[in-house]
Amino acid sequence: MKKVLIIDDDTTTIRFLKGLISHKLNFPCESAKSLKEAKVLLENSNEYEIALVDIILPDAMQGECIDLVLENNIPVIAMTGSTNSDLQEKILAKDILDYVNKESSSSFDYAMRLLQFVYGFAGSEILLVDDSKTSRLQMKFSLNKLPLTIHEADDGKDALVILKNNPEIKLIITDKNMPNMSGIELIQEVRKNYSMNQLAIIGISASNEPMMSVEFLKNGANDFITKPFMPEEMLSRVISSLEMLYYIHLAEESAVKDFLTGLNNRKYLYETGKKLYENAKREHLSIVIAMLDIDYFKKINDRYGHEAGDVALRLLGALFLKEFRTSDVVTRYGGEEFCIILTNTKLKNAETVMKKVCAKVEEMVIEVNNISFRMTLSVGLSEKMQGSFDQMIAFADEKLYQAKDEGRNRVVS
Ligand code: GH3
Ligand code: MG
Ligand code: MG
Repeated sequence: MKKVLIIDDDTTTIRFLKGLISHKLNFPCESAKSLKEAKVLLENSNEYEIALVDIILPDAMQGECIDLVLENNIPVIAMTGSTNSDLQEKILAKDILDYVNKESSSSFDYAMRLLQFVYGFAGSEILLVDDSKTSRLQMKFSLNKLPLTIHEADDGKDALVILKNNPEIKLIITDKNMPNMSGIELIQEVRKNYSMNQLAIIGISASNEPMMSVEFLKNGANDFITKPFMPEEMLSRVISSLEMLYYIHLAEESAVKDFLTGLNNRKYLYETGKKLYENAKREHLSIVIAMLDIDYFKKINDRYGHEAGDVALRLLGALFLKEFRTSDVVTRYGGEEFCIILTNTKLKNAETVMKKVCAKVEEMVIEVNNISFRMTLSVGLSEKMQGSFDQMIAFADEKLYQAKDEGRNRVVS
C-alpha cells in the first residue's frame, strides 16, 4: 500500500497529523523533520502517494523541500504557518495540490479530505460542458491538481453523446446558455436515465442572474457555482459532489453485504436470484441452487469460543469466493448457512463442483489463538426450473435437511 509522507520540524504537528491520518483514513505514513531527513526517505522509497510539507524547515527556509518532493513526482499539500506573505505567494505559484493553514484545525480536516480524494477517487471521470473554450480552460485549470479524467463538450447535445459513450462519468459541470441544447435541457435529459445519487450535476450560473441557480436546482442539479468563481471554490464543490456519490454508493452496498464475511447477504440473494431465475427460464438455461450449512457449528462455538467461530465463517466465505466462478452468486443466507446460485450449469456438474468444495473445506485447518480445528459442510441442491425461485430455495433446503439426516458432510440432490 502506498504511503503518506509528512515533513515538518514540529514534532507535535507530526504526531497530530499521524493520529488524524491513521484514525480517519487508516493510511500508513512516514515522517521527516528536515530537508536532509526527507532526502534520505525519498532515496530509499518510491512508495509515497502524497506528501504534506511544511514550507519552512530549519535547513530549507525558502520552501526548497517542496521542490524536492515535486521533483520526485509526488503531489504536495503545503502547510503554511508563516506570516511571510511573499514566501507564501512564492509557494502558491508552485505546482502544489493545495495548501492548508497550520493554525486552523478545520483546514487539517480539509487536508484529510484531499488525501482521501487522491487515494480514493483517482481517475474519476467528469464532463465539462460549455460552448466557450476559455470557460472550459478555466474549469480545467481549477481542477488540474486532482487526478481526474476530464471529458469536454461544446453543448448539451454533444454532452449526451459523450455521456453515452463514457458510462463511467460521475459528474457533469454545465453552463446554461449554449447553442443546440441548453444546460437546463441537458439536465432534464440526463435525469431521465440517471438519478441524483448516480450522477452529480453542478450548474454554472452568472451572478447577475440570481434565478438561474434556482432553475438549475429545480431541474435536478445537485449544486451550482456562480461565475466568476475562484479555482478553490470549484475544487471544493467537485470534491463534495464526488464524496457524496461515494458515500451513497457505500450505503447502498452495505445494505446488501454481510458485515462479517463481506459476502452478499440474503436481500441480495433474493433480488438477484429472482432476476436470474426469470432470465434462465426465458432463455431455456438452467441454474442450480445450493444451500450449504456447517455441521455441528454450535459445538465449534462451544468448544473454541464465538471468536473462533467468526474466524471460521470468514475463512469459509473467502474460500467460496476463490472456488466459485465470478458468474456464480455467493451469499451468506444467515448464521452458518450459505446459499449459492450456480449459473449456466447442470445438476451433475454442480454436484461435482460442490463435492470438490466440500473436500477443500474438510481439508482447511482453522487456526485461532493457538488452537486449530476443522469443519465439514452439508449441501442440498435444486435444479428444478418449474415454479419459482422461492420454490427452488425451499427444495434445496429440503435436500440439505436430508443430507443432515443421512449423516452430514455430504452433497444431496
Ligand atoms: P447442524 O449440523 O445440525 O447444522 O448443527 P449446528 O450446530 O451447526 O446447527 P445449529 O443451528 O444448532 O447451530 C448453529 C450455530 O451457529 C448456533 C449459532 O450460535 C451459530 N452462529 C450463527 N451465526 C453465527 C455467527 O455469526 N458467529 C458465530 N461464531 N456463530 C454463529
Ligand atoms: Mg449447522
Ligand atoms: Mg443451521
